[in-house]
Amino acid sequence: DSDAAKREALSSPSPRLRGEGRGEGESAAGGTFGIPGQPLSPTLSPEGEREILTFADPESLDLSGFDALVVSPGVPLNRHPVAAKARAAGVPIIGDIELFAQARPALPPHKVVGVTGTNGKSTTVSLIDHILQTAGVPSRLGGNIGLPILEQEPLPDGGVYVLELSSYQIDLTQTLDCDVAVLLNITPDHLDRYDGFDAYAASKARLFAMQSATHAAIIGIGDTPSAQIARSLSARAEHLTKIAPGVCMDQSRWPSLQGPHNAQNALAAIAVAQALGVPEAVIDAALQSFVGLAHRMERVRVLRGVTYVNDSKATNPESTAPALAAFGRIHWILGGKAKADDLDACAPQFGHVVRAYTIGQSGPRFAEILQGTVPVEQSGDLATAVAAAARNAQPGDTVLLSPACASFDQFRDFEDRGEQFRRLVEALA
Ligand code: ADP
Repeated sequence: DSDAAKREALSSPSPRLRGEGRGEGESAAGGTFGIPGQPLSPTLSPEGEREILTFADPESLDLSGFDALVVSPGVPLNRHPVAAKARAAGVPIIGDIELFAQARPALPPHKVVGVTGTNGKSTTVSLIDHILQTAGVPSRLGGNIGLPILEQEPLPDGGVYVLELSSYQIDLTQTLDCDVAVLLNITPDHLDRYDGFDAYAASKARLFAMQSATHAAIIGIGDTPSAQIARSLSARAEHLTKIAPGVCMDQSRWPSLQGPHNAQNALAAIAVAQALGVPEAVIDAALQSFVGLAHRMERVRVLRGVTYVNDSKATNPESTAPALAAFGRIHWILGGKAKADDLDACAPQFGHVVRAYTIGQSGPRFAEILQGTVPVEQSGDLATAVAAAARNAQPGDTVLLSPACASFDQFRDFEDRGEQFRRLVEALA
């Protein structure tokens, strides 16, 4: 839709958009949409690169009759005026995972696995889901991945809900008692929405605070905040599994689980499967047959001995670092909308980079950082970068899109960026 069309549609609110608000003091439950007593008059105002629909004046809102405020995890709770209002009125702020948690008693007997962490969540939940399917256990993948969990059919008796949980989702969840809870790692990301790193880490720790002490907790202890959380749970004894970094193991039979970061993801998924009683032989077979996720270290093509890898999902330097570590001679395409002003997390891997090609908003800044260490071209856009990398790469080299940045400056989202990379690579003659 063009913006003009959207604006026009919104300037005369349709009946569907109009609030069915009840009078003040009445419960907001039971299908009420909008703000009680307030007509909805949407206006479209540009804020940064996102557009915000304003339905009511937050200043004059009265939330006192509300049972709960249900928000999308995209709403920044630390600075949204309606969230402040709700807090002041003592109205709980919840999300869809909390609604799911509250609905659990009505579901057939089941288990819930919750996975959080800064990086590796999608890979780990997908692997857990794959192991369960291989074992013939009915499972559903939800949360921060795929379809919202409330839109999915409930599982039959004995099923397992595997939930990917961002810290935003945990912030909106109060009563989810995971049968198995996993924390992979905590590194700086999304700090704009937290009052510092400690608050971000505390958000992840709440996954375990909501859990019964006799339910399984699995924690990667490769970083200080995660190790601290593991220590705080030491009273759980045999219900706590710690995953140490740098465990040496043979990953050669797991084609889609290469690199040290995937060792962590695999170990976490194995621990979950063991906690759920999946037989070792099934786990072993599933690790071998797992097909990785699109846009995550995805091998797109091998052309004249050059391997093209789409790691568009790597939107911060911490998630790009393991991709750089996984290959020998890399032509590295990076840049976009930066979350960090540096590439410090990637610096130990610069030795693997033959040449870098910067794109997007952060291109000039990243070129400046790399200059003197790595030969660098300011390509500007993805098509130019792919063409240049393809020209320069020798047999045995890897052309790697692992941008260390968000995509919104040039693409719809990271999937769009990855798809465009795939199309450009497939078009190479
Ligand atoms: P998430 O869902 O948490 O964003 P993904 O599984 O989609 O994580 O992986 C995103 C990127 O993070 C991958 O491209 C990879 O480079 C990196 N990554 C994956 N697993 C880990 C891990 N355990 N530790 C650090 N980085 C990881």
